[in-house]
Parts: sequence; structure tokens; C-alpha cells
Amino acid sequence: MDSLDNLYREIILDHYKNPRNKGLVTDPGYVTVRIKNPSCGDEITVQTRLEDGKIGDCRHEGKGCSICCSSASVMTETMIGKPLETAHAVAANYLNMVSGKPFDPAVDLEEAEVYAGVRQFPARVKCASIAWQAFLQTLEKK
Ligand code: ZN
Repeated sequence: MDSLDNLYREIILDHYKNPRNKGLVTDPGYVTVRIKNPSCGDEITVQTRLEDGKIGDCRHEGKGCSICCSSASVMTETMIGKPLETAHAVAANYLNMVSGKPFDPAVDLEEAEVYAGVRQFPARVKCASIAWQAFLQTLEKK
């Protein structure tokens, strides 16, 4: 269990230090949503571009704690290339998982599973959620 925790911590730290798909674009083909988390000053902007019913690209930019910034990076990697419906299901399932609600273990959260432990820390749930909430909003805001 300890080594699993360490592995999870390493993945989170890696995404925090070397964020994937970071930086916004000015391409009008992207839908942009920004969310703030007043409780710890996190602020994340997510951009999504759809392509043939799939997530063609997903970008993020912002500042915040390690949980917030790393989960934004993990989210973009998880989402790029996913069919729209799968992307929806994964994001909804992830948000249920981190907030301690029932979720479907059959939906593969891939690397995002490392945030399963967040539900034990109510103060961090919002940190782990905002990038994913912003992502879902980019899908709705067409
Ligand atoms: Zn935070």
C-alpha cells in the first residue's frame, strides 16, 4: 500500500513539474472555460477542440496547488482522442470518485485513478475537480 501511495505521489508530482498540453491557443475552433477555486486560489482555464466526434485536442493553463495543476495535466492526457461519449463518462465518473460519490468501477480512469485518495481530504476535493468540471463545461458550451 505504501509503495502504491508513493507511485501515486510520483505521478502527481511529475504532472505538476512537467505539465502536459499546457498553454492556451487563440484558435477559434477551441471552446474555452475558466474556473476558480476561491478556497485555495486555484484558477484553471481549459480549452477543448472537437474533431469527428472525438476530443481532438485539450489544453489547460492556470495556477494553483499541485493537486489542481497536476489533475489538469492528467485530465488533458486522459481526454485527448476519446470519443465524446466516453470523455463525458470518464469525467463524470472521475468527479464522483474524488467527491466520494458512487462511481462505476468499469469505466477506466487510466492515470486519473491516482486521485482516488482525494475523497479522504474534503478540502482538496475542489482542487482535484475544477479542471474536470471546466472540461465538462467546454463540452456543453457549443
Ligand atoms: Zn488547490
